[in-house]
Amino acid sequence: MRFNTKTIHAGQEIEETSGAVMPPIFQTSTYAQKAPNVHQGYDYARVGNPTRTALEKMIAGLEGADECACFSSGVAAMDALMKMLRPGDHVVTTNDLYGGSYRLFTKVFEPYGIDFTFIDMTDLKAAEEAITENTRLMWIETPTNPLLRIVDIEALVNIAKPNDILTVVDNTFASPYLQRPIEMGADAVMHSATKYLGGHSDVIHGAVASSNKEIMENLRFQVKTGGAVPGPMDCYLVLRGIKTLSVRVQRSVDNAKKIADFLYSHPKVDSVNYPGLESHPQHQIAKKQMDDFGAMLSFTLKDDSIEAANSFMSSTHYFTLAESLGGVESLISHPASMTHGSIPRDVREKAGLKDSLIRISVGIEDADDLINDLDGAF
Ligand SMILES: *Cc1c(COP(=O)(O)O)cnc(C)c1O
Repeated sequence: MRFNTKTIHAGQEIEETSGAVMPPIFQTSTYAQKAPNVHQGYDYARVGNPTRTALEKMIAGLEGADECACFSSGVAAMDALMKMLRPGDHVVTTNDLYGGSYRLFTKVFEPYGIDFTFIDMTDLKAAEEAITENTRLMWIETPTNPLLRIVDIEALVNIAKPNDILTVVDNTFASPYLQRPIEMGADAVMHSATKYLGGHSDVIHGAVASSNKEIMENLRFQVKTGGAVPGPMDCYLVLRGIKTLSVRVQRSVDNAKKIADFLYSHPKVDSVNYPGLESHPQHQIAKKQMDDFGAMLSFTLKDDSIEAANSFMSSTHYFTLAESLGGVESLISHPASMTHGSIPRDVREKAGLKDSLIRISVGIEDADDLINDLDGAF
């Protein structure tokens, strides 16, 4: 099955009792048993729900994984994954990380005795040097947020594997339509399905897909034990969103390319971070590992101040000032004060995240309207 066909059919079956083409929303907390522990595969809805199962099979199919486990949010999925680790274990990750991931690592797991080293993962030598005898996991995010750097997944897998280190890729920014890390050797893929998979800014949801038995057993245990599970309605919404993933993301990418070109040649813009630009430092790696360059971009202003960024952002009409990304509508945000507000200023600036940096998530509107909107805001 090719990818676009998968977004409609992967793991999907016609519902037996009614012939429903879409899986029903099984709004139930428990399931009747014929005798103790004799049932149709479901005993209690924290552990499993048929609507959730349909979505898990779909996401596993999209990522080319054997299995998937769904959670009530992206960070809940990360939280469950990280609980595989034990005090003393060490994690290597990127210094250009989603703010919520940074908070989870440093404020929750560090106090429990798990060590993290934050590096520039585009620097493979730095990745090699960061490994210690306790390193168990490499947490990769690419494209990175909000600087849109591209990390070479295959190269990092090649460093991790011989050292028995698991590699997990946060694939939220690319979506499986553009990038499938498991095909590149990664052990697991994590999604904030709140973003491109859901695609309509109407649901919070997370998922991990993997073919690694140890990871999946741990996640099933966490689903049952930690209980950060999504409701059936939320699973239905994500599954519905996935049906149009290909067409939505492709339109957004086409728009993003035009917007990147427009910004690149604008006199008030200092720099544009978009992997599709030939000037992007990892343009070739993006070409190698992504099917196209994504619909996220960020840029800085010649007037590098929070005030200039704020004034720009309050002047757009179609770009709504909001956190999040990956929906059909275009969004604009200011990482330094919003998504990355929990990262101390010196850490933030060291990672290259400037005061005037503006991030946009390009939606599926008409490109000309979006460009006119940005033009007017300058
Ligand atoms: C949004 C996001 C998360 C967290 O997901 P939630 O669904 O908001 O919990 C993790 N990683 C990335 C890259 C994200 O954009």
